[in-house]
Amino acid sequence: MKILLLGKDGQVGWELQRSLAVLGQVLALNSRSQDYCGDLTNLLGLEATVRTFAPDVIVNAAAYTAVDKAESEREQAFRVNAEAVGVLAHVAAELGALLVHYSTDYVFPGHGSAPWREQDAVGPLNVYGESKLAGERAILASGCTCLIFRTCWVYAARGNNFARTMLRLASERDTLGVIDDQFGAPTGAELIADVTAHAIAGTRRNPALAGVYHLAASGETTWFGFARFVLEHAAARGEPLKVRAAQVNRLTTDAYPTPAKRPANSRLNTHKLQEAFALTLPDWRVGVARMLIEIHEK
Ligand code: NDP
Repeated sequence: MKILLLGKDGQVGWELQRSLAVLGQVLALNSRSQDYCGDLTNLLGLEATVRTFAPDVIVNAAAYTAVDKAESEREQAFRVNAEAVGVLAHVAAELGALLVHYSTDYVFPGHGSAPWREQDAVGPLNVYGESKLAGERAILASGCTCLIFRTCWVYAARGNNFARTMLRLASERDTLGVIDDQFGAPTGAELIADVTAHAIAGTRRNPALAGVYHLAASGETTWFGFARFVLEHAAARGEPLKVRAAQVNRLTTDAYPTPAKRPANSRLNTHKLQEAFALTLPDWRVGVARMLIEIHEK
């Protein structure tokens, strides 16, 4: 199997380099790759890459993910998250390739408390969400065989992430306030990559499994709950912290204004994915605890 991986150095892309390797020959690109164009702002170059490599599977982990910046860079966000995705989908349809793509709970309006199901009405609150929704629609309109995974609150041991930021702030500052009225499940890039490889193998055997799926760790918390979990673990390992888990203050979204509006309800219902691919999605604490050990040992 020939697999084209785009966005190889992002949180999910990095883990996909590992998880896809067992499926076949992987050509992994980032926006600076030389031999093949992996830049999603270069639509002609991107199309040439797909046609020349002629993959059986395209996995697109590249995305414009700067949620606040997207409010003032609408064109750039749409180019990467929608137009380029449309190009990939169009060529995938022509070549008969499976297109794997990632989207977000930000396609939903974020009200209520029920976990969002795949068929629920969409209604993004910000430009990033609009651009990701446009990407989904471009794929579905192309008629290509696809797997679209909507995920949320992605973290990884590598690069900057919420857990690292909390550890740094708790060691530098005397007080720490974290938002406690947005709900979701921290979801590891490792988990996303492993599920992706499993689902690709399943969909290659049975193309009827193609479609849109919600992919997130089980359970739920708030950013505040996530922060406390991280600091409790750090304290248990004896890390020197000025702010202990029990001292973290709860903030409301209103008290922490950002350029992009964020949904209060990022819960995703993952029953469809678990049933279709016979998977069990572990509780969010399992992956976060593992990541914290990795960070600590670096
Ligand atoms: P990251 O921001 O970690 O990685 C995105 C990657 O895309 C980066 O490596 C970036 O490279 C690359 N990229 C950006 N612009 C271009 C471009 N023009 N051409 C080629 N590559 C580009 O994202 P994640 O791994 O966290 O996200 C993976 C997917 O999951 C995305 O589709 C995202 O929308 C979705 N998602 C993410 C969530 C999260 O919390 N992070 C939540 C829900 C969904 P560079 O840094 O060099 O620009």
